[in-house]
Amino acid sequence: MIIPENIINELINQAQQEAPNETCGYLLGITTPDGDIVTENYWMENIDHSPEHFSFAPKDQFAALKHARSKSLKILANWHSHPASPSRPSQEDLRLANDPTIRYAILSLHEGVHLNSFKILNGEVVDKEVHL
Ligand SMILES: [Zn+2]
Repeated sequence: MIIPENIINELINQAQQEAPNETCGYLLGITTPDGDIVTENYWMENIDHSPEHFSFAPKDQFAALKHARSKSLKILANWHSHPASPSRPSQEDLRLANDPTIRYAILSLHEGVHLNSFKILNGEVVDKEVHL
């Protein structure tokens, strides 16, 4: 999955603004012969307002799906920030990652800025890509 630099910068800004709490959203985009390309970050409210957990606001999730459909975009990934821990899924992240068709991206602000994305199947990481 390709995440253009301007979108990575948007994710960093969003994560920094909401730190110390986690922030979250969807990465929307298109599938091309060269792979999936992210074209949009869709912010969603973290209704947990927590530094260690996140839950999408259901109304935002619904609006995101509607928005994606109207622009013929796919939900390529679910993303959230880890303000104070590394860019890898927590036990809870693994447990809650129930869609093996999308990627799970984690932007970490811990010891520099890092962005990795994962495919997760049955609670285990089966693929990892490093984006930053
Ligand atoms: Zn997490």
